[in-house]
Amino acid sequence: MAVTDGGAGAGLPAALGGTALFPEGLPLTRVQVPDRAELDRRLDGILTSGQLTNGDTVRELEEAAAEFLDVPHVVAVSNCTSGLMLALQAFGVAGHRVVMPSFTFSATAHAAHWAGGRPVFAEVNEHNVTLDPADAAAALAHSEAAGGVKALMATHVYGTPCDVEELQKTADDYGVPLLYDAAHAFGSRRNGQPIGGFGSAEVFSLSPTKVVVAAEGGLVATRDAALAEQIRLGRGYGNPGDYDCVFPGLNARMSELHAALALVSLRSLPERIAHRGAMVAAFAERVAGLPGLALPRLAEGDSSTWKDLTLIIDPDEFGCGTEALGAALKAEGIDSRRYFYPAVHLQKAYAEWAGERALPVTEKMADRVLTVPLWSHMDEATVLRIADAVVRIQGHADRI
Ligand SMILES: *Cc1c(COP(=O)(O)O)cnc(C)c1O
Repeated sequence: MAVTDGGAGAGLPAALGGTALFPEGLPLTRVQVPDRAELDRRLDGILTSGQLTNGDTVRELEEAAAEFLDVPHVVAVSNCTSGLMLALQAFGVAGHRVVMPSFTFSATAHAAHWAGGRPVFAEVNEHNVTLDPADAAAALAHSEAAGGVKALMATHVYGTPCDVEELQKTADDYGVPLLYDAAHAFGSRRNGQPIGGFGSAEVFSLSPTKVVVAAEGGLVATRDAALAEQIRLGRGYGNPGDYDCVFPGLNARMSELHAALALVSLRSLPERIAHRGAMVAAFAERVAGLPGLALPRLAEGDSSTWKDLTLIIDPDEFGCGTEALGAALKAEGIDSRRYFYPAVHLQKAYAEWAGERALPVTEKMADRVLTVPLWSHMDEATVLRIADAVVRIQGHADRI
């Protein structure tokens, strides 16, 4: 056994009659409420001014985010989904195919659908479940032959940067814009460079399970001034100001109140990400050598927000599958989620298109992932106890 020193991992799993490691229960996420004094001051200022939308706070957030991400343009929107929809509308995907991973959150595909596009799914790699550039190229070729393709989308899953150089080459080969669903990746870096400046645009989510939080909100980052302008127009109905709308836009504005929360949340982001990374490193050290367990692998020089702490489980080597592991963790009091399962192409909403391309790797990986609790103020004792739970379950996996 990996743990023989009498540590917490040495006992019998709770699923087999041992004492639960978290009898009080452990949720998957806990939102850290930022600096309340500054937030209260900002909210008070906004409420007193009466300017609840289209005001200075959203502009201040856009400027602060642009500086953090080192991109010229950031447009704040109501959420990541609406940001993706507006970008795809600007790319003219209506009536055309959009290539994207199936191993992603459903909103990636929903955005293409709402923009009038048709999702075509491509595979992810096995080492960090981000879009596989070779299969993306195959899906683009397929889509081109099948009637036309207008965009390539990729997701920085769990905060792990995609292979942005290969994906850009692939997009360029087919002459399509590359749009990143960067919902998890505000603060991730590719070879030192912030996620936010890659592809034609990158769209972040500020919903409560993400790393920067506005309650609800999104940010579109781009180097393309014309695209930024179109998304700015699109978030306000497509109305340039004279009520003579130039295209059918959305109401996808972020309110001043949400922007205030995001600004305060952004301030402490570097420390939060550093702490998350340290907790993941402590976890990785404690489970090192356990058979059949891997964490998403970062490329040399890359860094992740570790939006999620997700285990990749090889059921044959580990001794049981993710469903059994999740149930055994539940017995310890630990919440977990099979995130992302089922893959998008296997969801009811996309049944019509499920058979367009075979996705064996995606289906295998969706079966192998299990996300365990992590939050920005989790202490090391807690993360090590989660690791101990995994270790002792694995030690008895044949009976789990
Ligand atoms: C959360 C999430 C979204 C949706 O973000 P919203 O801000 O809730 O619209 C999109 N893509 C991924 C990968 C997500 O995790």
